[in-house]
Amino acid sequence: MYDLAIIGAGINGSSVAYQFAKEGKRVIIFDMDDIASGGSGAAGAFIAPKFSKGGELKELLHDSFVYSMEFYEKNFPKLFRKTQLFHIAKDEESSKTLKIYKQNTSLELKEPLKEYLSSLEEQARVYEHICIDAGLVNAQATCMAMSKSAKYVKQKVDTLVYDDGLWIINDAFSAKSVLLATGAYEAIIKEPYIKMRGVWGHRIDIES
Ligand SMILES: Cc1cc2nc3c(=O)[nH]c(=O)nc-3n(C[C@H](O)[C@H](O)[C@H](O)COP(=O)(O)OP(=O)(O)OC[C@H]3O[C@@H](n4cnc5c(N)ncnc54)[C@H](O)[C@@H]3O)c2cc1C
Repeated sequence: MYDLAIIGAGINGSSVAYQFAKEGKRVIIFDMDDIASGGSGAAGAFIAPKFSKGGELKELLHDSFVYSMEFYEKNFPKLFRKTQLFHIAKDEESSKTLKIYKQNTSLELKEPLKEYLSSLEEQARVYEHICIDAGLVNAQATCMAMSKSAKYVKQKVDTLVYDDGLWIINDAFSAKSVLLATGAYEAIIKEPYIKMRGVWGHRIDIES
């Protein structure tokens, strides 16, 4: 019997496995494929802020960004690379947004590397740009390292039954609590008010 059963070994499932195992909980993690075989393995895995004007979501994303940078640097320094992010607004509208962001952010604004500016000089002159420290994670290796202290079972979870205070998984495993970390895959529990959709990253040219 486990304290926590996690279904889905992407970045969400693996991070929770890591935190709970650190607290001394017995954790079991399921994935129908390999660890980080879903969105997390496909991701560019850039740790970057969202450049927006304001509001609660901006605050939450800012806090998540700062937390993640510190978390990966401290706990997985070999799987994380701090690197400059140089971002140019794409039009007048996003230029205005970026200007407001720059005026209000607590992040340290950096001088862009000369080669960034010279290769993108024209765009950078026309539209607002920003340069900050951001990061890049080796997503698959990080998910593997995070799941290490949990028991990993490569198995699709088809049935979840709550019986007498315990969750029974695939009629074979039991746990006090369950976390569904199945990403954008088909939900195991069919609830009309829970809708999943994929979240896609921006594609960028990493060489420049
Ligand atoms: C091309 C691309 C680029 C991206 N770039 C970035 C980026 O640069 N920065 C960023 O922050 N985000 C990025 N994202 C978004 C990010 O990858 C996702 O938000 C994140 O990986 C979602 O993680 P997750 O753990 O929720 O889901 P997933 O990583 O999809 O994990 C879900 C897991 O659940 C398993 N599973 C599903 N159903 C079952 C079941 N019934 N039984 C057992 N296992 C099951 C799947 O096999 C899968 O491994 C990108 C996404 C894509 C596709």
